[in-house]
Amino acid sequence: MMGPKQEAQAALFYEFSLEDHVPRDHLLRSIDRFVDLSSIRSHLADFYSHTGRPSIDPELLIRMLVVGYCLGIRSERRLCEEVHLNLAYRWFCRLDLTDRIPDHSTFSKNRHGRFRESDLLREVFEMTVARCMQEGLVGGQGFAVDASLISADVQKQNSSNPEDWAAREAAPNDAPRAVREYLDVLDDEAFGAASEVIPKFTAHADPASQWTAARKGPAFFAYSDNYLIDTDHGIIMDVDASRSIRQAEVGAMRKMIDRTEERFGIKPDWIAADTAYGSSDNLVWLTLKRQILPFVPVFDNSKRKDGTWSRADFTWDENNDRYICPEGKELRHTRRNYSDPARNTHGMKARNYGALKSDCQVCPSKAKCCPNTDTRRIRREKYEIVRDFARECTASEFNPKAQARRKKVEMLFAHLKRILGLGRLRLRGPCGVQDEFTLAAIAQNLRKLAKLKPMVTTTG
Ligand code: SF4
Repeated sequence: MMGPKQEAQAALFYEFSLEDHVPRDHLLRSIDRFVDLSSIRSHLADFYSHTGRPSIDPELLIRMLVVGYCLGIRSERRLCEEVHLNLAYRWFCRLDLTDRIPDHSTFSKNRHGRFRESDLLREVFEMTVARCMQEGLVGGQGFAVDASLISADVQKQNSSNPEDWAAREAAPNDAPRAVREYLDVLDDEAFGAASEVIPKFTAHADPASQWTAARKGPAFFAYSDNYLIDTDHGIIMDVDASRSIRQAEVGAMRKMIDRTEERFGIKPDWIAADTAYGSSDNLVWLTLKRQILPFVPVFDNSKRKDGTWSRADFTWDENNDRYICPEGKELRHTRRNYSDPARNTHGMKARNYGALKSDCQVCPSKAKCCPNTDTRRIRREKYEIVRDFARECTASEFNPKAQARRKKVEMLFAHLKRILGLGRLRLRGPCGVQDEFTLAAIAQNLRKLAKLKPMVTTTG
């Protein structure tokens, strides 16, 4: 039998509990257990005036941003609408049914003002890391690092060759915020000072973004999102925004390793990364300066592309300071035996090693080795001993395990783009980009906590 037509009837009184209407297994209920923002009022106290109209509660704004980034709602205007309508979002933000939602413009005012001056988002991020450590999710032995390109909010049409762009000379106070921020970071290692190479194009609306073709497709403007993770459970230990070039990403890695040690007293025993982090300088920094084992493929330019043997085909004999060629002949730096032992050791200096002309001239493999010269010569780089050590690490039995754990950072980036919807940035300028990356990392750590520490629900 068909029931009566449903008609909306306004009741005079409702008995309603928001608490009862949020499902027990809702993601936000699970995340809420790990969000402790009790300290942010004292953190921000110095940034508020003692007179004037009371402000919106900063904890409410942060809770709304957490909702937005955890559920892929990054537009602040839409976030306000969603929190207004969704009971679970209201419950998480500690808003009752009749409480007013802040205007969307409140977010940008606070972001450009107090939040940035007090580094509040960083404080909240570090709170999530500390909570992950408390819950036993951070082992601290093995870290992985990687960077992912995120498209900047600019168009190619509004860009020009940096030489033709007049904003560099313009009075900084007249320039838009993103341009002022760009001028501020010209000497920063993660941005202007990372490389002297001038990019082909500069975006007028966000000049700190990098014109890049690193994805092997059409070039675009982007920033790099750098993650340093603990490989036990893929917890993000640090996050940093940088230009999308290798040198800036390596600089971001060093900054994150040092900051993690400073903030949490954790320095890993080993680190896994891809070839972009395998330059000599970086391997020296990791192994000699920080005593971290590098499971990082060595960045090697010595590989020959014409089919002749590369340096890697020759065997290094450390004890006798020589290379052995595939035909068993030796290549030496010098054939003199100095009485001063210091002159016989190669140390950390770059050196050239050569075979005897008499050996090469009669060698059956000459066409494969040195077809255009009388004899084969090999250059041993300044820090080749460190590079050899890194090669030993990547050839060790543990390397497949380290590389498998490294995949966790790639999975985090895939999750960031596909589930949290951060394939393209919404904010411009290095500070805005850093805010977006930090909020996304907060959301990912909280979601990880909720997943790995499920709620115990009692039935009956
Ligand atoms: S050409 Fe000289 S260096 Fe090369 S394999 Fe022959 S002997 Fe060795």
